[in-house]
Amino acid sequence: MKMNGYCGICSICFEPIKTEDGVTVGEGDKFYHKRCTENKPNSYYYALERIAYELKINKKNPTELMDEMELIYKIPALNDIDFNEEHPKVISLYRKLANARDAYLDPKLFDGHNANEYSLDQILSYMKNHAVSNHTDSTTIECDACNRQGMSVYRNEEVFFSVDGFKDTLDESDNEEDFEIVDFAVYKCWHCLKWCTYIE
Ligand SMILES: [Zn+2]
Ligand SMILES: [Zn+2]
Repeated sequence: MKMNGYCGICSICFEPIKTEDGVTVGEGDKFYHKRCTENKPNSYYYALERIAYELKINKKNPTELMDEMELIYKIPALNDIDFNEEHPKVISLYRKLANARDAYLDPKLFDGHNANEYSLDQILSYMKNHAVSNHTDSTTIECDACNRQGMSVYRNEEVFFSVDGFKDTLDESDNEEDFEIVDFAVYKCWHCLKWCTYIE
């Protein structure tokens, strides 16, 4: 039912929305109060729509979106049949992100990635398991592969590196002397989708 001057019911607070206050996610058919999307961006159904949209349009690392979903929905670390049954939409989006992450980190996209002194397997496994922090977009950085401008930058200035690979924090059993602290930065081109790495 539609009332004059209203565009629908807000899927966050379930109150009617005056037409001028209503927003959608992309071309989505659900309406929200603009203020509700700002105050409650992690509301159950809104966050599902928002994250699906970010996956669709964005240059954002799917690993970051997976981390975000884990926090919002408290997704168990191990596959949990009860959780999956209770939250089918959450799990379905989460699996989509996992597939997108694998495509995003396709080793072919790392051809000529720069930091060749480190093994690509170790770089990829670090990037799969940790959202590299400080995701920023730059419209001016130029891609070495296609020479066009515009890249997303992921960086963590303090990553621990040992013969076993990269990690964010040391465990109790780790011997500090086995590790070197590196500045881990990766750039993804918006156009050709290739990665460049700077690890030093
Ligand atoms: Zn609302
Ligand atoms: Zn490029």
